[in-house]
Amino acid sequence: MKVLLAEDDAQIAGPVLRAFERAGFSTEWVVRGDAADAALAAGPWDAAVLDIGLPGRDGIDVLRRLRDRGDPLPVLLLTARDEVGDRVLGLDAGADDYLVKPFDMIELEARVRALLRRGRVAAGVAPIRLGRLSLRGEETVPRLDDAPLELSPREAGVLAILLRRAGRVVGKPVVLQELSVADPSAMDLSDAAVEVMVHRLRRKLEGSGAEIHTVRGFGYLLRALDG
Ligand code: CA
Repeated sequence: MKVLLAEDDAQIAGPVLRAFERAGFSTEWVVRGDAADAALAAGPWDAAVLDIGLPGRDGIDVLRRLRDRGDPLPVLLLTARDEVGDRVLGLDAGADDYLVKPFDMIELEARVRALLRRGRVAAGVAPIRLGRLSLRGEETVPRLDDAPLELSPREAGVLAILLRRAGRVVGKPVVLQELSVADPSAMDLSDAAVEVMVHRLRRKLEGSGAEIHTVRGFGYLLRALDG
C-alpha cells in the first residue's frame, strides 16, 4: 500500500511516518505542495494524506488538481484547528476524510486504513477497460466481454500488467518484475520467454478490439484498435 504524505512540519511528519511504517504502508514524504502535486500526477498511489497549509501550493489546491485529472484516489486532509473554513472547502474539493491537528496516530492510521479499504472496493466496482477487455479489482485473469479469458497464469499475469498500463509502453524488465510479485520464479525468465508469452497472447487477443504492439527497443504497448 503506497501512501503519499504531504506535511511541512517535521515534528508531525516524523511520528506519522513511524506509525505508517508500523502499519505496513510504504510511505513517501514530501514537504511542498507543488512536490505533492507532481508526485500525485506521476502516481500510482493507494491513498494520500495532505496537510492544508503547505508551501508552494496548498493542500486544497493539490486536491483540486487531482480531482480535475479525474483521479479518484482516497485523500485525507490534515487541518489546523483555526482552519474550519478550509475544512469545508476541502470536503467540497473532494476530500474523503479529514483530521484536525493535533491528532492521535492510532486514529490517523485507522482512518487511512479505512480509506485504503474503500479504495480497493471502489477499484473492484470500476474495472479497468480497454475495448472488450476488462480487469476487475482483485482478479488476476482479464475478461473478454465479462468472461475470463482462457490463459495460462503467466499469460494472464502479463496481460493484466499491460492492461493496468494500457496506452503506455512497458519494458520487459518491468513485466518480469511485476510477474515475480505473485510468481517469484518469473524473475529467472529470459526476454525470449516474455516474447513467447506475448506471441501467444496476441493470438488469443485476436478479435478482442485490443492488440499488443511492440515498440522496438522499449517494450510493449497494449492499445485499442480503431473502430
Ligand atoms: Ca502546515
